Amino acid sequence: MKAADVHQRTSEAFSAYVEGDLPPEERARMDEHLASCTQCRVSLERFRRTVGRLGALKRRAPGDFLAGVQAQINRRSRGRFFGKRHMLFGRIPFEWLSLAMIIAMLVYYIVVLQTSPTGVVPAK
Ligand SMILES: [Zn+2]
Repeated sequence: MKAADVHQRTSEAFSAYVEGDLPPEERARMDEHLASCTQCRVSLERFRRTVGRLGALKRRAPGDFLAGVQAQINRRSRGRFFGKRHMLFGRIPFEWLSLAMIIAMLVYYIVVLQTSPTGVVPAK
């Protein structure tokens, strides 16, 4: 195996290595390579730092965070957003109903246009 391939394989296994998911013999091989290879040690350090930062970002928001944000938007928009949804018969959201009506009108318009002769002849 070429040296470059070993570096490649090593960096590909960083994630599993850091998570401790590597089989023991893989891990031993990697430790061995890292002990002798500054380039990969530096890469691994960089990888660890990056993962650490991502881990900090992934910290969860408090449980009421979303509800709080939505309530605030609702207040500031004077109830236009995130208010109680208006439902027809308590089940169909009005947005869907208006969309269905627009589609129905469009279909009607197209059908009427195609079936009724206009009697208008293009000027020559
Ligand atoms: Zn290496």
